[in-house]
Amino acid sequence: MADYDSDSSEGEFEETNVLLGYASKEADDEDIISRLGGRPDWLDPEKPPSAALARCKVCSDMMVQLLQLNGELPEKFPGHERRLHVFGCRRSNCRRRDGTVRVLRGVRVFKQEAPNPAKEEKKEQPKAEEAKPVALGDALFGASSFGRGGSANPFGGGGGTGSANPFAKPSEPEEKEEEKPKPQEVSTAGLTKSFAETLALNVPPAQPPPPPEPWPTEDKMPKPYPTLFLADADYETLDPKPTNVPANARVEAADAEEPSAIDREAFESSMDAAFQKFADRLAQNPEQVIRYEYAGTPLLYSKTDAIGKKLASGRGIPGCANCGGRRTFEVQLTPQAIVELEGDDMSLDGMEWGTIIVGVCERDCRPRDTELGQAGYLEEWAGVQWEELAKE
Ligand SMILES: [Zn+2]
Ligand SMILES: [Zn+2]
Repeated sequence: MADYDSDSSEGEFEETNVLLGYASKEADDEDIISRLGGRPDWLDPEKPPSAALARCKVCSDMMVQLLQLNGELPEKFPGHERRLHVFGCRRSNCRRRDGTVRVLRGVRVFKQEAPNPAKEEKKEQPKAEEAKPVALGDALFGASSFGRGGSANPFGGGGGTGSANPFAKPSEPEEKEEEKPKPQEVSTAGLTKSFAETLALNVPPAQPPPPPEPWPTEDKMPKPYPTLFLADADYETLDPKPTNVPANARVEAADAEEPSAIDREAFESSMDAAFQKFADRLAQNPEQVIRYEYAGTPLLYSKTDAIGKKLASGRGIPGCANCGGRRTFEVQLTPQAIVELEGDDMSLDGMEWGTIIVGVCERDCRPRDTELGQAGYLEEWAGVQWEELAKE
């Protein structure tokens, strides 16, 4: 991340590595993939993910799309088409509950490069001076670089390369679920097993693929939010000496539960500090609807809620259940996205999150049952920081 806290360039606007996305009703280019709302536009329209992946985990109803993002990172994942879809449940009964916001990563790998961890490490080091990927904004906020049809494979067949990849090995047989390896067994196994296999033992067992389920017809789906294209993006610029702009984040008066008297003071001051920072940052570019920085740091809405504690303590985002690798931050939605999505519908009971933080597999792995050249879908991590209820 840029050193935006420094006073070294007082009076100058400083640019950070966070790419801000802005919504607009119209787009010059109809092929813009990234958008708020609307219906999902899958990598391969013939092969949508199982509808089970877009069901609310509380009420089991179908959810609606909040964000669709063209996630192609040609420098980091050459030969990968990637797309993120964030879904939310529209039912008011489901508000503020776990599993009512879910994120899917669509991936189609045309040619898999052999992983080279050493090279990866080196690349991470000089991050501060690393040039921003010039084409990133174009990739995210423009049309797919993979061509309009999407069916044409710009990388050729590339068949055999996948087998050489230790990360692409098929899933372990069923028995693995029954006998959970103890830590001791893991280290013994490490002697004979490959690095990737050993690593895979240290993460939760692979999530079973969801039951294949066709998508309901449109009349059986909840009403989607309107489509707002993410046609414009800019790297965030910050005034090093911000004036105390009133927070534009939505804080509504409500009957909040009082924290216990003992830790109330500490709770309030830390809550206020994190929230104030959040509100101040957003107020400098109030129209931003998403904040994008692959492998960057999310801007926390709170450090005291479940997600804030997890991320602030460095325990971080849970690992990828498909490949056993780590997950990393990629994008977050801001409260302005709610304003854009709900538009004229503000009279209705609206969404109540402060931010949705998306964490993705840092290897951009593909599902174990998906072959090279085919589109597959994996559930990724969505951390929802619910809107704080203002205290009376
Ligand atoms: Zn629900
Ligand atoms: Zn993975």
